[in-house]
Amino acid sequence: MKDLVLIRYGEIGTKGGNRHLFEDKLIANIKENLASLGKSKVYKTDGRIFVESEAELDLVNERLQKVFGIVGVCPARETALDFEEIKQAGLELVERELSGQAQTFKVETRRTNKDFEYDTMDINRELGAYVLQNTENLTVDVHEPEIRLNVEIRYKKAYVYAMDLPGVAGLPVGSSGKAGLLLSGGIDSPVAGWMAMKRGVELLPIYFHSPPFTSDRAKEKVIDLCRVLAAYCGGQLKLRVVPFTDFQTAISDNCPQKLLTIIMRRMMMKIAEEITIQEEGKALITGESIGQVASQTLDSMRVTNVITDLPVFRPVIGLDKNEIKKIAKKIGSYEISIRPYDDCCTLFVPDSPVTKPKLKFVKYAEENLEIKELLSEAIAGTEIIEVKSE
Ligand code: ATP
Ligand code: MG
Repeated sequence: MKDLVLIRYGEIGTKGGNRHLFEDKLIANIKENLASLGKSKVYKTDGRIFVESEAELDLVNERLQKVFGIVGVCPARETALDFEEIKQAGLELVERELSGQAQTFKVETRRTNKDFEYDTMDINRELGAYVLQNTENLTVDVHEPEIRLNVEIRYKKAYVYAMDLPGVAGLPVGSSGKAGLLLSGGIDSPVAGWMAMKRGVELLPIYFHSPPFTSDRAKEKVIDLCRVLAAYCGGQLKLRVVPFTDFQTAISDNCPQKLLTIIMRRMMMKIAEEITIQEEGKALITGESIGQVASQTLDSMRVTNVITDLPVFRPVIGLDKNEIKKIAKKIGSYEISIRPYDDCCTLFVPDSPVTKPKLKFVKYAEENLEIKELLSEAIAGTEIIEVKSE
């Protein structure tokens, strides 16, 4: 008998001919996520992924619950194809789950190995009876049991588990290509990035920094947000910090007040596009949500959008602020996002920003800027920070 973790993964299973590519990516990501905990073995056998690690089980589980692609994390016991051993393992695992009060349980068996001498019904019945005989105050509830004792009879071994911790689901990060994330210190953009990662996108986070208008602490905040996101993608992210002061000052000095935000947003998009294409990324992601502020009306977003040829994805587009906050709390970014340091947008906000900008006027105003020079200076001065999740 041996203890290991059985990984349940859902959507990958529907990928047909490409299935093995998704599985291999998931295995690579799991290894990466566990790497700093010490030695671990991650492998695929009998149609399942298994993890064996020297580290403490709780720590391993916690890490696995942040790997996109995993639906369930099940600390399990591997046994020989021997019913006595299976019964023993089942009883021990149920005992581990008992909290002392009367509880209900149910045995659920899956048998891919039809040669095993007992069928599903036999196993459910006999294992159930064995557990009942050897415990107190436990009853069977086939509809809503508190403990589900799972038995999987596979070709070489059997696996027994009673705990199934929820994973974040989605697709393995990297299986859908790369995209640039415009990451500010706010609540929305980290959530947008997380949602894109959930669909398998590898992130290139990009932050526009305008010292001295934005402080070092604003930058720290973005680094900390990156740290939170990094925990969901192997523990590491490369943050691009783009110096934006000169651009922002030029816009402020040379363009009409009410167009400041929209022009600034367009320039951010342009720079992000260039960085993303350099890194072979294929899209941009922002934390915009329809109607949240003046620069997020449909008219404004259209004017912003046309500056780039890359598709711009806005994963939180249809969510209310409260819904976005809820996700931020779940993923662990909220407490960092609400730290009170200004980002460059709040400093250069015009008194009455346009909500229906006309592309023609915006382009006309931009003729006062040395866009090419400002752009290449910003790109040349971009700092790359390796952010680790711990
Ligand atoms: P967030 O909560 O992400 O800051 P927000 O509601 O404050 O969003 P805005 O400030 O209008 O919205 O910004 C809209 C989007 O533009 C952000 O979600 C982010 O993707 C991008 N953005 C804004 N400021 C920056 C910045 N300094 N660096 C990188 N991206 C930015
Ligand atoms: Mg913001």
